[in-house]
Amino acid sequence: MAKFPNSNSAEEIFAKLKEYSSKDLVPYTGRMWGHYYATGREDLIEVARRAFLEFMDKTMLDFTTYPSILKMENDLVGWVADLMNGENVAGNFTYGGTESIMLAVKAAREEFKKKNTAVPEIILPETAHPAFYKSAEFLGLKVVRVSVDHETFKVSADAVSEVINDRTAILVASAPNYPFGVVDDVKGLSDLAMDYDIWLHVDACIGGFVLPFFRKLGENVPPFDFSVEGVSSISVDFHKYGYTPRGASIILHRSSAKRINHVFVMASWPGYPLVNTAVLSTRSAGTLAASWALVNYLGMEGYLDLSEKILKTKKRLLKDLPKLGFKVLGNPESSLLAFTSAEIDPFILAKEMEKLGWYIQAQPGSKPLGYPKSIHLSISPYHHEIVDSFLEDLEEAANRARKASKVDVMEVLKRVDLSSGEFLEFLGIKGGLPDDMTLINELMHLLPPEMVEGVLKKVVNEEIFRIP
Ligand SMILES: *Cc1c(COP(=O)(O)O)cnc(C)c1O
Repeated sequence: MAKFPNSNSAEEIFAKLKEYSSKDLVPYTGRMWGHYYATGREDLIEVARRAFLEFMDKTMLDFTTYPSILKMENDLVGWVADLMNGENVAGNFTYGGTESIMLAVKAAREEFKKKNTAVPEIILPETAHPAFYKSAEFLGLKVVRVSVDHETFKVSADAVSEVINDRTAILVASAPNYPFGVVDDVKGLSDLAMDYDIWLHVDACIGGFVLPFFRKLGENVPPFDFSVEGVSSISVDFHKYGYTPRGASIILHRSSAKRINHVFVMASWPGYPLVNTAVLSTRSAGTLAASWALVNYLGMEGYLDLSEKILKTKKRLLKDLPKLGFKVLGNPESSLLAFTSAEIDPFILAKEMEKLGWYIQAQPGSKPLGYPKSIHLSISPYHHEIVDSFLEDLEEAANRARKASKVDVMEVLKRVDLSSGEFLEFLGIKGGLPDDMTLINELMHLLPPEMVEGVLKKVVNEEIFRIP
């Protein structure tokens, strides 16, 4: 069993941390096409770090303690509201997209409860982010899933209207969705939301700092923000294409009357009155200050410049990926895209790219749900500078993947009992992280999603998050 440590010197500690991170990916190199949004600009990292460190030890718990914190939060809300074409909008800083989404779902639920005592329902396109499912689970809403068009990967208003009923509390549109980078029909859903008087949340977590700039650069971006009348709330993450450190997002509501549904006040204990506008209470103001500093530092021109690099890279990829034998899925309208291939297994491709020092994200899709295996790319500004070498390596990896032999998963499933320790050993996850995700991805693609969820939950609980 682990023992509480004796005191170590700073030198020893940092040596140990270095050792721990020896297998980590390195965010700043631009070799990651997911999880980090590299700009290649040292000055941005410097500005964010300086602001972060200056405010790291100030807490957002009590807005009367540090007046600067309230000023920064209200500034940020105003700036993003402007970006989202909002007027008289109310909003709050949160620690991430999941928290912003949870607040929107909470607010919608409270509005619903004013008129109906039934269990509220949330209608989710299959492409909606898991944060909505998590919010529904935490907040007691029933999820009603709607499949999306398998060519465009957008949800249709017709499909949503079919499942709307008097228990529907909230509709969700993505701008864009994460798996395919396409923007849902916000206008169509807005019409429904107004007809039936239902909350509509637009998830612009990953698109909020891209789509408005793409539009200014002349791209055809469908309306998705507060200019669409039925939109009740919008979530936008700073910690993605705002290029700020992780732990920074915003939730915007069309009005303060909507926002009040997630303002929490408690004055009936002997301690300080607790007033929270977000889920979390005590938290560092570091990421807030870094966001405030970076949005100020980059400004309209800065974000336009970075977005232009993304746009150019995207156009290059859309042109060259088909030449390498890949099919881009749907018509990606933002900074994300997914591609697949009948001849080149995406999971083996990801593995081969890893050997060449790149991180590309394998998406298992789901055979039972009719979604292909694919590779997801989140395009970053820095990729503009290295897209040539990326495409060269991708071609090399594709050639290797074409030749690679595939594991016969069905054969494996016949031999190994899914609930046994032997199975975990076989997958390479007995007591730790697997070296190779190929087989695991394959299983996630093939098996029914409920079964995948069950196995993952068990593995995470019993094997991964475990005291060494
Ligand atoms: C990132 C993201 C979220 C929220 O994720 P967090 O990791 O909590 O920030 C929600 N929706 C979409 C489309 C996203 O890309």
